[in-house]
Amino acid sequence: MSGMTGNPEAIGEAIRNARTIAVCSHINPDGDTVGSATAMRLGLESLGKEVYLFCDDKIPDQLSFLPGVEHFRRPQESDGPFDLVLAVDISDKARMGACELLISRSAHTAQIDHHPTNPMYMETNSIDGKAPANCLLIREQLRELGVAMTREIAICLYTGISTDTGNFAFSSTNAETFEVMAELMRHGLPLSNLNRILFRERSRPQVLLMGKAIDSLMYYCDGIIAVMKLTEQDFKDCGALSEHADTLVNVGLETIGTKMAILGRETGDGMIKFSLRAKHPTCISDVAQSLGGGGHPQASGVTLAGTLDEATERVLEAMIKKLNGNGKQ
Ligand code: 5GP
Ligand code: MN
Repeated sequence: MSGMTGNPEAIGEAIRNARTIAVCSHINPDGDTVGSATAMRLGLESLGKEVYLFCDDKIPDQLSFLPGVEHFRRPQESDGPFDLVLAVDISDKARMGACELLISRSAHTAQIDHHPTNPMYMETNSIDGKAPANCLLIREQLRELGVAMTREIAICLYTGISTDTGNFAFSSTNAETFEVMAELMRHGLPLSNLNRILFRERSRPQVLLMGKAIDSLMYYCDGIIAVMKLTEQDFKDCGALSEHADTLVNVGLETIGTKMAILGRETGDGMIKFSLRAKHPTCISDVAQSLGGGGHPQASGVTLAGTLDEATERVLEAMIKKLNGNGKQ
């Protein structure tokens, strides 16, 4: 059975029936998808499963502290077949990238996700669009499977929970988030150390790139919309990779009076990747969806073809249309 609420029992059954399991993270991987996959690997291995981790993109250096992260492989490097492919935190099939190849190489398919826009593209789907982080669903799943919490699993889960709640600041953060945090602390979570790595330090290329993003900042609609752009040349000048721009959209959103922010970046393959953010209660996922993307109400994304200026114009127009009342607040 599948539904728009979590379904750990169905996923549990699929896992119990499998011996070899391929766990997949989404392209442009973040703390929640990588934390979900590494926690799952540790839990499933403790149950005697053979687990393989896949991601179609490089895992950001910032997440290199995650236990078992070195096991990630590109889907092209796998022979399969697997008894089960399990997608974690992947809002739609396109976000699997080449991991989609693994679907045809697996006997069964399942996913655990927390994006309300998820079209339930697997055989067994456990989707809870209200969960503040996918790692909270992973913790529920591990309990269902009877996996004991460990310090290593706590490190993985904290990474997803803290990053997807904006370090416990987004409106999605709820009492359960802190209840789970209490459990993780009891298992020896090195909170201060991880918090520094995730939220209080940036690499030098990240700092330089922030300067470029701020240089490009433009405001529209009386400052309600903030727009930033990063060219391939900007990345080269800063010695930066695409992953180094991952949280920079927030710099625009931090402006007082700004309700929506966009960061467009050239990805080097002719495509433009956009990060869209909004301040609660303004919703942005409808704008992303209208352009073919998706995500969460206040944090969404989309990738478009075209030049940086043209593509940014399209996203901006969609936002202005929404502001003018052609979309919901
Ligand atoms: P980010 O801006 O950090 O890359 O993405 C923000 C959120 O939007 C994430 O939850 C991510 O999964 C989702 N997202 C980003 N790009 C896309 C996209 O092209 N399609 C869909 N459906 N979701 C996306
Ligand atoms: Mn997530």
